[in-house]
Amino acid sequence: MIAFRSDVVTVFESALYRTTSTLVHTSGLLLLADPTWLPSEVAAIRAEVDRLGRGRPFYLLFTHSDYDHILGYGAFPEARTIASEAFVRNPEAENTLEQIRKFDDDYYLRRDCPLSYPSIAEAIGQDGQVLQAGDAKLTFFLAPGHNPDGLFTLIEPAGILLAGDYLSNVEFPFVYHSFRAYEQTLDKAEALIRSGRVRLLVPGHGDPAARPSEMLRRLADSRAYLREARATVQEGKPFPEEALWQRYAFRRNQASYHRANLELLRLEIENERP
Ligand SMILES: [Zn+2]
Repeated sequence: MIAFRSDVVTVFESALYRTTSTLVHTSGLLLLADPTWLPSEVAAIRAEVDRLGRGRPFYLLFTHSDYDHILGYGAFPEARTIASEAFVRNPEAENTLEQIRKFDDDYYLRRDCPLSYPSIAEAIGQDGQVLQAGDAKLTFFLAPGHNPDGLFTLIEPAGILLAGDYLSNVEFPFVYHSFRAYEQTLDKAEALIRSGRVRLLVPGHGDPAARPSEMLRRLADSRAYLREARATVQEGKPFPEEALWQRYAFRRNQASYHRANLELLRLEIENERP
């Protein structure tokens, strides 16, 4: 379904995990990020691209390589692809494809597009790297922490920030890669938000945010979660879990992510000890 629409952007929200797929449509550019989930949902995004696309350069961007964000790749073979250099080097590429096959088997899903790991035309390796795409300027920031190959993309002049799996209002930080890196990535997000350049923040799951106060609230929530996790692991303080589940609704699913976060942080702190 369409969760948000303006003159220049349409945000699709999947029925699954409130995952977003974002289509930016300015007069000189079509840019699609993370087209995903059910075959009918990917087909609806494909139809919208066909409806809008005439005569504009068309880019397909991946915010990171988690399987739910790349599985629609095969439906857009004509697009010029963008992702981070770490995405290109991903040593888990084959495992990621296997997760997609497993998901499709679990739900007896049939897809008519071939499945492959995205081949990337524009690989981004540096903070502040800029790409002129049609009539838009894309500025990139590496965003590791959730996973190793995340990428923030600021699209100007529209002021859209594609945040990947950060700053969601329906998920606390899911840290698969590194707490340290996650904290540094949030610092980059804060600098961007405070710069006034972001007019619409689109997270990978949940609602887009247009108000700076809402963006900053999500930032504060993420930081509070990471701080409480550190207090639990380093100082043995009990994690305020009931408060967490009042804030995030999908406890039966997300409890395991919370436990995995604490486990990863334990390992990370052990490994950082001299
Ligand atoms: Zn995700």
